[in-house]
Amino acid sequence: MRALEKEITWTESVIKEDQISKFMKSGRDFINDEEIWQKIRTNTSPEKQEIREILQKSLSIETLTPDEAAKLLNVKDEELWKEIFEVAAQVKTKVYDNRIVTFAPLYCSNYCVNNCLYCGFRRDNTLEKRRRLSLEEVKNEARVLAGEIGHKRLIAVYGEHPLSDARYIADTIEAIYSVKVPTRGGVGQIRRVNINAAPMSVEDLEMLREIGIGTYQVFQETYHHETYARIHPPGTLKSHYQWRLYSMHRALEAGVDDVAIGALFGLYDWRFEVLALLYHAIELESMFDGVGPHTISFPRLQPALGAPYTQETKYLVSDEDFKKLVTVLRLAIPYSGMIITARERAEIRRELMPICTQTDASTRIGIGAYRESTNRQESERQQFLLGDTRSLDEVIRELAEMGYITSFCTAGYRCGRTGDRIMKLLRTGREGKFCKLNAILTFREWLDDFASEETKKIGEELIQREMNEIKEKTPVDFSERVYQELQVYYKRIQNGERDLYF
Ligand code: SF4
Repeated sequence: MRALEKEITWTESVIKEDQISKFMKSGRDFINDEEIWQKIRTNTSPEKQEIREILQKSLSIETLTPDEAAKLLNVKDEELWKEIFEVAAQVKTKVYDNRIVTFAPLYCSNYCVNNCLYCGFRRDNTLEKRRRLSLEEVKNEARVLAGEIGHKRLIAVYGEHPLSDARYIADTIEAIYSVKVPTRGGVGQIRRVNINAAPMSVEDLEMLREIGIGTYQVFQETYHHETYARIHPPGTLKSHYQWRLYSMHRALEAGVDDVAIGALFGLYDWRFEVLALLYHAIELESMFDGVGPHTISFPRLQPALGAPYTQETKYLVSDEDFKKLVTVLRLAIPYSGMIITARERAEIRRELMPICTQTDASTRIGIGAYRESTNRQESERQQFLLGDTRSLDEVIRELAEMGYITSFCTAGYRCGRTGDRIMKLLRTGREGKFCKLNAILTFREWLDDFASEETKKIGEELIQREMNEIKEKTPVDFSERVYQELQVYYKRIQNGERDLYF
C-alpha cells in the first residue's frame, strides 16, 4: 500500500462512533452555544455583594455555576477586579501553597493529517519541515532535558498521523523513561511523561495507561460549534467536534484518571470559551464521581508560518482580557491546576504566577530542538513562536525571588494520588501538604544537580524559610514523625540519593 492510501485507511479507522454516542444525552453534546450566550447576556451588572459571595464560594473550593462565572466575567469595575484577583491568588495558595511545578514540552512529530487553519503543522502547509523523531532521537532529547537542564516532567506532543499513532506514543514514552544521565550530585531522569495528543479510543488509552502516562491532555481549541466547523475543514479527523469533546470521557473510562482540558484563546470570544471550559469541568465531575480536570490550559493564539487564521481572526485576546479570563478560570474551577506556558511573555507570566500552578522553561518546540538547536526560534519547524525563551535556571531564580518554590515532584501519580483521591485532597487543601515536603526535596536535588551559583544561593534561602514554616506548623499540620522523616530524607539527598518522596 502506498503512503497516501495507508494514511487514508488509518484515518478511516480512528473514530469510533459508539464511543461518542454512549456519552451523549438525547443525541446532544453538553455544550449548548445558545445557553452559554444567554448566561453571558443575562448576568450583567452584578452587585458587589453578589460578587463577594461568589468569591467566598470559590474560597471554599467549590466549583462555581455558569451563572456565577458569567457574573464574574461581566464585572466592569476595575477596583473590584483587583479584589477578584487577590481572592484568586488566595484560592491558589489554599489549594497549592506557594509551589510552582515546572515541565518542558517535547515535540516528537509534526506530521499531521489535519488541516487546522490556525496551525503551522497543518497538512497543506508546505513550508513546514516534516519530521518524526526516531526512538534514539527521543532518548537524545530526554538526555538533554533530564541530564543538562534538569527537568523531571515532560509533556510529549504529537501531531495526528499514522506515523505518530498510539503505538508510537507508547514507544516514545518508554524510551523517555529509560533514560538515566549522571549529574553533578546524582542522576537525572524524567519521572513523569504527560501527553498532548489527538483524541483516542478507549482501547488505545488503556494501552497508554498500562505503560504509565501521566496526564492526558486534549484541548478542544474552540468550544463554539460553528467556529469549530469553520476552522477544521470537513473531511479531516479533527472536524469531528464530538470525537474530540468526549476524549476525556473515554480517558476516564479507560482508567487514565488524570485528564487536562484547554482552549486556544483567540479562535472565538474568550468569555464563551471560559464558560464552555467550566461546562466541560462540570460535565466530567457529574459523570465521573467528582473527578474534574486536573489542569486547565489557556494558550493564546500566536502567529504561525502558513497558518492563515492567525492573521484573520478578530478574537485575539488583549493582555487585559487575558488576565481576567485566567482569573475567572482560577475561581470557577478552584481545584484545578492552571498552566501558563512560554507562549506568553515573561512579564505576563510574572503577573499571573500568583494564580497559576505550572509553567515551562528552557522551552524548545522544534522537532529535535533540544539536542540540535540554540535558543534561536525556527518558524519552519515550530507550531508557533514562543514569547519567553528564558532558561530554567533563570525562571527558577525569578520564582524564588518572588517567594515561589519550584517543585519537580512527580510522586502523586506514583503513589496513587490521582483521580478521585487527588480531587478530594485538592478540595480539602491536604494535597498541598504532601507537595510542600516533596517540593523541598526535589528542589534540593535540582539545586545540587543543575543550579548556577546565584540560583543556588537564593534557592537555599527559600528552602530554609520553607523548613522553618514546616517546623512551626508541626505538630498541627505535620506530625512529629513526618517532620523527622523530612530531615532524614533531606540529608540523604544531600548525600547523593535521589527520588525520595512522601
Ligand atoms: S492543531 Fe493539531 S491537529 Fe490541527 S494541524 Fe496542528 S497539529 Fe494537526
